[in-house]
Amino acid sequence: MSAPNVAASAPATEDGGADSEALQVLRRIFGYDAFRGSQQEVVEHVIGGGDALVLMPTGGGKSLCYQIPALVRSGVGVVISPLIALMQDQVDALRALGVRAGFLNSSQSLDERQLVEAEFAAGELDLLYLAPERLRVEATVRLLKRGTISLFAIDEAHCVAQWGHDFRPDYLALSALHEHWPEVPRIALTATATEATHAEITSRLALADARHFVASFDRPNIQYRIAPKDEPRKQLLHLLRTEHQGDAGIVYCLSRASVEKTAAYLVERGVEALPYHAGLDSRVRSENQSRFLREEGLVMVATIAFGMGIDKPDVRFVAHLDLPKSVEGYYQETGRAGRDGLPSTAWLAYGFQDVVQQRKMIETSEGDQAHRRRLAAHVDAMLALCETVECRRVQLLDYFGQKSEPCGNCDTCLVPPSSWDGTVAAQKFLSTVVRLQRERGQKFGATQITDILMGRKTAKVIQFDHDALSVFGVGAELSEAEWRSVARQLLAQRLVAVEGEYGTLVLTEDSGDVLGGRRSVALRRDPEKAARAARPAKASGGTGRKAAPADLPAELLPVFDRLRAWRAATAKEQGVPAYVVFHDATLREIAATAPTTLAELASVSGVGENKLATYGEQILELLATPPAEPAG
Ligand code: ADP
Ligand code: ZN
Repeated sequence: MSAPNVAASAPATEDGGADSEALQVLRRIFGYDAFRGSQQEVVEHVIGGGDALVLMPTGGGKSLCYQIPALVRSGVGVVISPLIALMQDQVDALRALGVRAGFLNSSQSLDERQLVEAEFAAGELDLLYLAPERLRVEATVRLLKRGTISLFAIDEAHCVAQWGHDFRPDYLALSALHEHWPEVPRIALTATATEATHAEITSRLALADARHFVASFDRPNIQYRIAPKDEPRKQLLHLLRTEHQGDAGIVYCLSRASVEKTAAYLVERGVEALPYHAGLDSRVRSENQSRFLREEGLVMVATIAFGMGIDKPDVRFVAHLDLPKSVEGYYQETGRAGRDGLPSTAWLAYGFQDVVQQRKMIETSEGDQAHRRRLAAHVDAMLALCETVECRRVQLLDYFGQKSEPCGNCDTCLVPPSSWDGTVAAQKFLSTVVRLQRERGQKFGATQITDILMGRKTAKVIQFDHDALSVFGVGAELSEAEWRSVARQLLAQRLVAVEGEYGTLVLTEDSGDVLGGRRSVALRRDPEKAARAARPAKASGGTGRKAAPADLPAELLPVFDRLRAWRAATAKEQGVPAYVVFHDATLREIAATAPTTLAELASVSGVGENKLATYGEQILELLATPPAEPAG
């Protein structure tokens, strides 16, 4: 009665088992040659009816882990996802592959919803995307009971964890899936996986009996860099101009105001940038998101409200202008760069003020003492990452419980910082704080203390007669930037604390040990110049602006450009993002292999059956037509 499932039309493999059927679907529908990493194991396990918890970094290939079992098993695969704004694109991408997909969420009209519901009940869907809040509606449960469900996929499963950074109360209700449909396999997936989050997902979704697949969290193509903050917008602009001209990227800022300011700053300087934050009108927000996904080379300046589930494959950089609240969040955000595996940059600027701001936000946050302690622990781990003299990647992976070797592709590997014995500097700094307080009954911020130590007779120093202090000028051996770094690190190590709205400095419980010589202080010396990538130079294309894919020889660029132009026109006509038509990597392979027959084209990675049928002839024709002669 129901329309045939896509996989049902695959050549019979009665004795070949699920294994080969899954592989056939991978090749035929998705156009990929082989599974990656643990994909095959996961797919087979779920096809066999087992529950699974999949921890895989962003870009690791989680989607296929549930899409293929949904195509192979009979019934509809139900995907729970919080990403309402992206469901349309996800469904479009699947439809472009010939997969029968639909979604149900609050953005739809009643008519649209009823249409999808009818398709579901008639078994005419392979995949149904659902917002979690839909499941709280009794009618949705009734609807689901009317159809056959092949599996439940719980995407972004970390949303169930309160320990994490994306908690969604609606996710807590997902534990009920198992009670309603005990025989339907569940696969939960996330790219966030500290041990604490992992444990919380397991217990809240009742996945203790599931098989757990933990992939390596390394993203080797992303270069991690953390720089001391010094006019962050200028630093950002420099990064864009010198390394990411014309590239698509995301810039994260903590506040809405700084999102607006930064976007305007970039636009004034000729960078195409758009703002995104929760305070914007929802129409503007979705328009900006859609432009970012559809157009090439746009920079999105956003709060962390932006990005979850954004599967644009060619985001070339993610920049943070403020300190992220946790390593988990940071890794998730930076992971949005380079899903296509090509070289990408994760760059963060961080300074004294960031620490002040974060600690203040925690102090004034709602929630009990335990909650605040948890937030503080998150920030401290982030600070440790910023101040490390070791490989950033080793630290990051260690945070996720994975051991690794120095990577050679992060700033500390490329330009190793040294550590130095900052005990005396710390003592000078702290005793200035003490003297101001004991001798004068005053509290000041880091700038004034630095001026005093450096022996600067600024207006404010003279006004308060601080040049008469015995510590005046005792720190002339360090530069201002160095004192700034000392202040930042003392704060990070909780050897000094900030108070009140002016950020005045006070001692902490541990300061006494440093002042009394019972504790030494190791500090990081910020490298003189920021690390620059040791990357293959980008070949410059005909336009001189667009970055060429790193491994494409110059003579193939014109073909690649024509393919891109064709893709842009095709995507526009269909109202979908360009990557829904073909990924860059696929166009590159087409340019490089210059297929002349449909069969040759079919062997390119990313060209499946449906796309071959839809676009094959057009592509071959484009390749066979000589480029227009330039005029003159
Ligand atoms: P995740 O959801 O884990 O972030 P995706 O499922 O979006 O990752 O996959 C990341 C990218 O890798 C996508 O562009 C996808 O098409 C591609 N990909 C996934 N699995 C394979 C595979 N086996 N072969 C080739 N490309 C793959
Ligand atoms: Zn490294």
